[in-house]
Amino acid sequence: MPYVIYDYAKCDGSGTCADVCPVTILEVSGNKRWCKAIDDKVENKEAVEEFHNKVEKQKNPVNVVIKNSMPDCIMCRACETSCPKEAIKIEE
Ligand code: SF4
Ligand code: SF4
Repeated sequence: MPYVIYDYAKCDGSGTCADVCPVTILEVSGNKRWCKAIDDKVENKEAVEEFHNKVEKQKNPVNVVIKNSMPDCIMCRACETSCPKEAIKIEE
């Protein structure tokens, strides 16, 4: 199962990862400060929802890493290679 892992101590919300994802499973957060996995695309949604909510309200970097289990991810790694902050990683 592919995992999309965001490090919110590093992410600056550039939106590049969401723009390059060919299967549209990433998005900019509600306050435009971060990118995140689209909730409905996350298999472990209940486990990560609390953390998504926590990050979405923040304006400044937070020391939170969120590991999203995402069945639709095709592991192309476009998000990972295009991120200027090394804030997103893909794991199997
Ligand atoms: S490309 Fe990197 S820094 Fe930009 S929103 Fe995505 S994870 Fe954050
Ligand atoms: S590895 Fe590819 S398909 Fe998976 S989240 Fe990143 S850009 Fe999207």
